[in-house]
Amino acid sequence: MTDSNHVQTLERLLEISRSLSAPLEAEQILQSITALAAESTSSELASILEYEPESGKLRFLAMPWFHRDVLRDIRVSVDHSIAGWACRQAKPVIVPDVRSDPRHDRSVDQATDFETRSILAVPVIYRGEPIGVMEVLNKAGQAHYTGDDLSILEILASQAAVAMENKRTRSQIQHSLDELSQLDRMKNDFIAIASHELRTPLGLILGHATFLREIIDAEHKQQMDIIVRNAMKLKSIIDSIADIDNFERGVASIRRRSISIRRVIEEVADSFTEEAKYGEISLRVNMAKDDLHVEGDASKIAIAISNLVKNSITFTNPGGHIQISAEEVPGFVKISVADDGIGIPASDLPRIFERFYQVESHLTRRHGGMGLGLSVAKVMIEMHGGRIWAESLEGKGSKFSFLLPLKPDQADSSGRVFVT
Ligand code: ADP
Repeated sequence: MTDSNHVQTLERLLEISRSLSAPLEAEQILQSITALAAESTSSELASILEYEPESGKLRFLAMPWFHRDVLRDIRVSVDHSIAGWACRQAKPVIVPDVRSDPRHDRSVDQATDFETRSILAVPVIYRGEPIGVMEVLNKAGQAHYTGDDLSILEILASQAAVAMENKRTRSQIQHSLDELSQLDRMKNDFIAIASHELRTPLGLILGHATFLREIIDAEHKQQMDIIVRNAMKLKSIIDSIADIDNFERGVASIRRRSISIRRVIEEVADSFTEEAKYGEISLRVNMAKDDLHVEGDASKIAIAISNLVKNSITFTNPGGHIQISAEEVPGFVKISVADDGIGIPASDLPRIFERFYQVESHLTRRHGGMGLGLSVAKVMIEMHGGRIWAESLEGKGSKFSFLLPLKPDQADSSGRVFVT
């Protein structure tokens, strides 16, 4: 090779090295590598084959474009070919005349209508393991491949190894992502179908049980009470799941009216007075003198606050304190529920608003619940264009806060807010 050819080859090699970190498709890089391999070793053709674990054979990854359609479907035996030998032995091989080499596999020549005379093949090695082969065929002028040709091909094969591995990693990531999104779709479909389909029969059970409770004799009233109470519990779980599902599918909507924050908070606090007393927990409301008003759906905001207070009572020991507070901050009303209960480990904090997420395993925990309370609260607040977050120190307590915009900017003329 002349000096100027040498410099040109080095420049192309540098270009290929740089392209390995560029967002180019691996196929494109491998194609440039084979073109440079053929050119710099004065060969008629060059190709790269990859070891395919499923078939135990080699398949063509990069090849001359005019053989592409034929070679794409061909698999080359690892045991009965020169390329296979280089891959198996993880060693380069130079064959000046394939006619006198029994390893030569004639089937590829027959399929492509090409005559191979000489071969230089080097293994493509990644982390010490052969993952394929790179070969050049028919050095020009019946010449023999040299040590220089071998060195160039080995450098190019090491570049090919990186590109092939990138390709493999990318396709593995894509495969995992596809599987994950398929699982996620199945989970969402199941949740949607289950929650919507359970509603109707449960409504019937509740209706009939409530009716029977009214007419049944005193002796069986207690049993009917248990049925109604538990059917109501089931209904509230299904309603929560359906609320989240509707929100996520973008079909949830709220009716906006001017609501008094003081009223909503006091009603929620009153509904928990007995429970807090029973748990020997002090429950206080702290609000500025003037009432605060937002445009929204009082029942949905009440659900959010109730879920926060319910959790605070559940996770606060006797003698503890809970405070619900509200204040105006620029553009928003900020509502907080703070307790001095068991707190939440820092590692769990980022995930507690996820659907079905519970800090303690569902199987070992003492408290009931399904890990839905906070995700429902989040949906209720986000439906209003607000946001919710938590601060907590394990062993010290937790504070959940949310912001509601003072002026809804998403409401249309009918006063409905559509969440998309
Ligand atoms: P669940 O209804 O099962 O309690 P949530 O979605 O309401 O589910 O809460 C998720 C998890 O967050 C709970 O299992 C609990 O571990 C933790 N958590 C929520 N609120 C508090 C709190 N005030 N103090 C301590 N842990 C809490």
